[in-house]
Amino acid sequence: MIVKNFISALWNAFPADLEQHLEHVLDTAPRDCRIFFRADDVAVPGKAMARMLEIFRTHEIPLCMAVVPAWLNASRWQELRAMAKDSSLWCWHQHGWRHHNHQTRGKKGEFGDERTETAKQADIERGRDKLSELMGPAFQPYFTPPWNRFDQQTAAILARTGFHAVSRSAGEGKKVPLPPELPDLFINTDLHTRNETDPALGWDALFAELEEALATGRCGVMLHHQRTNPAAFDFLDLLLQKVASHRRLHAVGFDGLL
Ligand SMILES: [Zn+2]
Repeated sequence: MIVKNFISALWNAFPADLEQHLEHVLDTAPRDCRIFFRADDVAVPGKAMARMLEIFRTHEIPLCMAVVPAWLNASRWQELRAMAKDSSLWCWHQHGWRHHNHQTRGKKGEFGDERTETAKQADIERGRDKLSELMGPAFQPYFTPPWNRFDQQTAAILARTGFHAVSRSAGEGKKVPLPPELPDLFINTDLHTRNETDPALGWDALFAELEEALATGRCGVMLHHQRTNPAAFDFLDLLLQKVASHRRLHAVGFDGLL
């Protein structure tokens, strides 16, 4: 599995005024601000996965889960399903095919310009077919690309293979514009794959990112449950509690963004 599992520095030291700071940032949200949560690299059940689902269920906040098709099998899906239970809170959708980097230069990508269109389309279709076969009606036709990016050919493939929308990171829209029938439900806040090496700098950057995202009226928060520790889950629990009770914030899934 090509996933780094180290914990970002901020999850090793909480600031003293964390709760007040978080409340202050959330209070900057404009009226009717929508917020959604997307968890990546889903497929393997485990303690972190169970804890993440439990927190979202407790606060009744929707969670969009990007599932790596090659990592999933029938028994893993049954276990995930048993953990999650049937709920309208969940949006199970596709996260590439096998989370493999095919680029030999530049930024990582599973669906970049170093592969043929045929190869990319084959991976997208077999991922889609595998997830729909295993998950049945629980599978929803949205596509989150590994590393949040893909090339122009992939945009056209996704548009013609039945996907309703994609979810990349903010800024990708300028680099690889999408056809109008394929909206980008992009994330603009990163909880668990932050690179700041100093916890204080990490917190400053996270709060700045969150405030900037809220100001746009549409905040998308990216999660990586494999890169969490108990403190990261404590913060998620606090964040969801504040979001659920905030009068200007509306937690939605992908369908609530379209
Ligand atoms: Zn990923």
